[in-house]
Amino acid sequence: MKFLEYVKRLICPPSCACCKKILDISDNSVFCNECYEELAKRVMDVAGENKSQYIERSYFYYRYKNWYVKNVISHTKYVANKEFLKFIGKRGKESLKKHNLLGQLDVVTFTPRRPGLVRLYGFDQAEELAMAISEQTDIPCSKLLKRKGFSLEQKSLKSSARSKNVEGKFRCKENLTGKRVLLVDDVVTTGSTVNECAKMLRQCGAKSVYVWSIAQ
Ligand SMILES: [Zn+2]
Repeated sequence: MKFLEYVKRLICPPSCACCKKILDISDNSVFCNECYEELAKRVMDVAGENKSQYIERSYFYYRYKNWYVKNVISHTKYVANKEFLKFIGKRGKESLKKHNLLGQLDVVTFTPRRPGLVRLYGFDQAEELAMAISEQTDIPCSKLLKRKGFSLEQKSLKSSARSKNVEGKFRCKENLTGKRVLLVDDVVTTGSTVNECAKMLRQCGAKSVYVWSIAQ
């Protein structure tokens, strides 16, 4: 370990990306042993039910309703942990390979986080995830969507109000004619946000939109 890295770890020791337990100073693991094993048991890596006419197929890695998975998602929102992003980028690549999508995509993009939250936390977790997947797969990553106007946080709303909350709240000015797009998000619940984003991408000419999320 380089001296500067050692000093950095002394000041800010590595911790589990799930339960936050402090790890050994020389430990490069993303999770503690317990969380690693518990998360491994919960891998789904399947296609979810698709209710959107704009989305070709939607895949997710874990089921959201689990303590360990919820902790991981919470971690992605508040901490930009490079080791975790590398871990999830690798899982994303394996998943795309499993679902025969490697070599079938032209660009990776993401559902942009609300600007107020980007200012608050200093990063957009979906953008970090998209870049991590791009780094592992060599599929170029591009910010194709922007938010416009004001919208409430989706989780604060009932399912029935979520579509209305995001309707018309994204714009895309790119020419995506014939492009096959991978839309990345950390968690997909009702699917209202990814549906609205996919709608914009298709309106800009995208041939197909696939969704990949950590959890659903
Ligand atoms: Zn842990």
